[in-house]
Amino acid sequence: MRYIHSPSSLMEFDKCPRSFQAKYITNEIRWKPSAVKSRGTWIHEKIQRSIMAGVPLDIADDKICMDYTRSRVEYVKSLVSTGGTVYTEMKIGMGAGFCKAEYYDENTYMRARSDIVYYNKDTGYLYVADIKTGRNWDAKHIQLLSTALIGAAYFNPTKVDYEYWYVDSGETVGDSLMLPRDLFTYKIPPVVTMVLEIDRTIKCGIFSSRRNALCKYCELLQECVDTGE
Ligand code: SF4
Repeated sequence: MRYIHSPSSLMEFDKCPRSFQAKYITNEIRWKPSAVKSRGTWIHEKIQRSIMAGVPLDIADDKICMDYTRSRVEYVKSLVSTGGTVYTEMKIGMGAGFCKAEYYDENTYMRARSDIVYYNKDTGYLYVADIKTGRNWDAKHIQLLSTALIGAAYFNPTKVDYEYWYVDSGETVGDSLMLPRDLFTYKIPPVVTMVLEIDRTIKCGIFSSRRNALCKYCELLQECVDTGE
């Protein structure tokens, strides 16, 4: 099966090229769906329903910061009240030449599914948000930046705001892109460099292992112990 870049595959490669290979190239590690609906999935659905159906946000959960979460939901609703369209779980794609592609196109080079996307074609403003339960874990913003990059190719906006909503801690982490300027500034190039490094690694077929804090959960741990990596 043809490999297509995604925010999660970029994050996996950054963590460890060998586990990236096992998950995305050789399928030695297969994705296992959870048998029960996780708390994160349930919270996502509640937030997305509140936005799409215009109903009040109602989440019975003692860990979530409700004031914060309501304020972010209201922000998205306020955007919609000025025009434009909001989507949830939207599937977007990008071709190799930084052009729009559909998620399942034959020529799709990179793709993402985004929790919340708002786009106003009259103003050229794109907003993407990713809902997170638990702690802040993507310090490099790889997932957000790659989603913003794909969104920029897909919608051709002039400005992109991209945010993680950490609904438990009540914290927003994110930034803005002005386009096309920021395709060439410090924000986007690290993501592009990573994508090109993955392409080179796949071509040469050498995936080194990189020890990290999550090794203890990795199905290849014994292999790495045996080879002394
Ligand atoms: S155990 Fe750690 S170093 Fe080895 S493949 Fe898995 S993530 Fe990489």
